[in-house]
Amino acid sequence: MNKFKLFFVIIALLIQNCRNISPCKPTEGLDFDSDSAYSYIAEQLSFGPRVPNTPAHDSCAIYLKNKLKSYKANVYFQKADVKKYDSTTMHIVNIIGEFYPEKQRRIVLYSHWDSRFYADGELDSANRNHPIPGANDGASGISILLEIARQITKKEPNVGVDIIFFDAEDQGQPLSENNFDEKSWSLGAQYWAMHPHKKNYQAFLGINIDLVGANHAMFCREDNSRYFDNFTVKRLWEFAKKLGYADYFYDNLTRPIINDHVFINEIAGIKSILIVDNRPGHFIPYFKEWHTSKDNLNVIDKNTLNAVGNVLMQYIYCLE
Ligand code: ZN
Repeated sequence: MNKFKLFFVIIALLIQNCRNISPCKPTEGLDFDSDSAYSYIAEQLSFGPRVPNTPAHDSCAIYLKNKLKSYKANVYFQKADVKKYDSTTMHIVNIIGEFYPEKQRRIVLYSHWDSRFYADGELDSANRNHPIPGANDGASGISILLEIARQITKKEPNVGVDIIFFDAEDQGQPLSENNFDEKSWSLGAQYWAMHPHKKNYQAFLGINIDLVGANHAMFCREDNSRYFDNFTVKRLWEFAKKLGYADYFYDNLTRPIINDHVFINEIAGIKSILIVDNRPGHFIPYFKEWHTSKDNLNVIDKNTLNAVGNVLMQYIYCLE
């Protein structure tokens, strides 16, 4: 290697190193409101379980669309028909809110808004054959994104923001069945990844949130996120601790999880991570009411909504 080349290699390494260690600094004047987020969970639950092909599902979709519109987003209401693993056709809708459309450099925040048709988390199999309320599993992620939508119009971030509520994340094949097919999950995200709301849509980063409202939540680093974008995982978790949320964001690395982020990475090619309540060493690795009739408002803790909402909102304003 000649001296000239060596010089450029050193500069490249320095740039790489700077990228790896540039920590986020808190932004003044951000005002995430967990009371507001909590009320959005209650409003979603008031429709009943949001299972595709039901009136509750369709009414909640209209509610979510109108909420985003009320926060001045350009809203896309992406309807599609997809096949459930048992071959029934599901009429689904992805709801997209676009903020600051003039900005080229964009981040996409997403969560699923449907709730599971089947309570496979019930210990007694006789209690499984009904849909779940989905306060934490579904409504909590949407509630945080709605509150961010409400706040983001008040203070302009450096990057453009798209918020997507994906349908049919949670209508997949039960894990206990033979020939388990992970592609039976996240059907809304898979559809959008193949048919984005805008031609040639691009975002430099995606953040997926799910199960973000339960009492005593633990947000461990998830292995698929580490694989796809460990830089963001490290940076966001470090920032969360700096913001005072070390009791929620843990450095433990837990097993890979199939959620919308996997398909957004693999099909859409948008580097994405997942923030999920994912507890190591538990028989059920999520909160204990996961996929049961008890996933209702009683499991929700405003302190958890506050932790995730603040970290996510601060992270958006740290991006350039
Ligand atoms: Zn679920």
